[in-house]
Amino acid sequence: MNTSKKSKDLIKTEPLQPHRAEKKEEKHKEGYIICLNCSLVYFNKRWQETDPKEVDHIKKNEEVKYDLCPECRKSKNVAPDGVVEIIGITIDDNMWNLIKNTANEEKSRDFRKRILEIKKKKDKVEVWTQSKELATTLGKKIHNAYKKKSDLEIDWLHKGDFVRVYLRG
Ligand SMILES: [Zn+2]
Repeated sequence: MNTSKKSKDLIKTEPLQPHRAEKKEEKHKEGYIICLNCSLVYFNKRWQETDPKEVDHIKKNEEVKYDLCPECRKSKNVAPDGVVEIIGITIDDNMWNLIKNTANEEKSRDFRKRILEIKKKKDKVEVWTQSKELATTLGKKIHNAYKKKSDLEIDWLHKGDFVRVYLRG
């Protein structure tokens, strides 16, 4: 009896493992990523549903990038009908917001009007869209907002089945 009590005590007094050692690094270095298609925000190493007010706060105070979350990437098993190529133009926060807000607005009217993927390349960014209309709308909106900085060219391909929109700085 005595021995069993002793061993219990032993177990109890075993020091706790410092599992939470990393707890302190609240601000991760990579900054935040906001999904262009839904309300998820990537921080603390995972995509999280985030209150819109919190998202606004993050946008104002943190380093933010825009991309698609994994779910939105997956759900886009659809062939794109358009792409906007932003070439030689620095995409600042305002332009990202313009792209995101335009896409959100259009998507709320028609689900097919959505961004499927954003590809960041060396000298350009490609915004692939499910609908041709969204690609042309984005192109025109960006061009209007950055008139002095961008040239707009719209190329209809495959007898109008696909549109390639160029914005050149
Ligand atoms: Zn998403």
